[in-house]
Amino acid sequence: MTAFSSCRILQPVSDTASYSAATNEHPINTNNTGSRRKRNVGSHTKFWKPGKTLKIAMYNASDEAIEEVRAAASEWLPYVNLTFDFVKGDIGDIRIFLNRPDGIEASQIGTDALIDDIGGTDEQRRGPSMYLNWTPGSHRFRFVVLHEFGHALGALHAHQHPNSDIPWDVPNTYRHCAQTFGWDKSVVDANILPLLLSDQFTYQPYDGDSVMHYEIPNEWTVGYWGQSESWAISNGDIAMMRNAYPKD
Ligand SMILES: [Zn+2]
Repeated sequence: MTAFSSCRILQPVSDTASYSAATNEHPINTNNTGSRRKRNVGSHTKFWKPGKTLKIAMYNASDEAIEEVRAAASEWLPYVNLTFDFVKGDIGDIRIFLNRPDGIEASQIGTDALIDDIGGTDEQRRGPSMYLNWTPGSHRFRFVVLHEFGHALGALHAHQHPNSDIPWDVPNTYRHCAQTFGWDKSVVDANILPLLLSDQFTYQPYDGDSVMHYEIPNEWTVGYWGQSESWAISNGDIAMMRNAYPKD
């Protein structure tokens, strides 16, 4: 048994499709700063256009489940210039499927959820962009919704910050994740280990208290470095979202 469950970022079908979806939605996602005009597909942000009403479809959810998701997700709203519109059915900017049989909890990053709308098949277009495990009365569910909606709003994993001070034990992290989650190295690279430093981004400081930070078990690090889950939006999370979604 695992001591905790970990979310997986749903990867786009291609970096080119991801880049098109992000820049069609909001040109600032190109991250071209100043005179640096290098167009580097794969290192762009994926934020929604500020001021947008995000339609959030919940396919198979009861009114009770929709209300729990809405209540938790809405904790982001004071910090973003966005509106959420929850609907039943399968048509939405964000599409949530509850209780996938294999138990995976996952989300696409921001505008990657639009990719299927610009060239996918009808079936893909109605595909989920987020998976949540819901059981009535689960205390952890609120945290999971906060974390997955962070992804859906364009946030990456805080523990993957290129400048974190986490003393990773990389070989042991691969070994532990294979044993615990059945994850191969590519999944570990995509979800746990540090991302490459990109000169295209303006980084917020590393934030160990972020709701986007995994619990870091002892097996993943050298020495006694550890980090537990933080079940609330942090000041760093607020700064990141306010920067991405400024008020008019
Ligand atoms: Zn995650």
